[in-house]
Amino acid sequence: TDIRTLLLSRIRDVADYPEPGVTFKDITPLLADPAAFSALTDALASIAERTGATKIVGLEARGFILGAPVAVRAGLGFIPVRKAGKLPGATLGQAYDLEYGSAEIEVHAEDLAADDRVLIVDDVLATGGTAEASIQLIRRAGAEVAGLAVLMELDFLGGRARLEPALAGAPLEAL
Ligand code: IMP
Repeated sequence: TDIRTLLLSRIRDVADYPEPGVTFKDITPLLADPAAFSALTDALASIAERTGATKIVGLEARGFILGAPVAVRAGLGFIPVRKAGKLPGATLGQAYDLEYGSAEIEVHAEDLAADDRVLIVDDVLATGGTAEASIQLIRRAGAEVAGLAVLMELDFLGGRARLEPALAGAPLEAL
């Protein structure tokens, strides 16, 4: 089987979660399968190599689980982008709008250097709001965005189109 088929077979659809009418893509079966998790890690690490990334940024929380082994396999440093209030050092923050209200993400500013090329890793691209804020945050920290790599893109939510201006030509890769 090809990798796309393997990965899709390990993602579980959970109906009406976290609220009625929403189908949640649950990646825990994939994480529990060492062959699938390893294949995913290899595929993301090869994107890191292809894009010339010098750092991996993972988005809380599932972007940590996927991004950390990618960083190790690609021989790159890992930087967490967290929800506001969780990082102990000097942070740079970026607010973004949710359907109701707003949220904020943060990064340790000193972890990113001006000559860094960052590959952002997350599990699911939905509306693109989280990814868009992380791109803005990385640029404001002075680094370059090498690309965005996700396990899965929910294309009916239009995240790719929304991210086009922010990505400014950097690739969006959905496995
Ligand atoms: P967005 O900001 O609307 O693109 O939502 C993306 C964020 O929400 C990512 O960090 C995902 O982990 C999470 N997310 C949204 N939908 C799902 C889903 O169906 N499964 C797992 N995570 C999801």
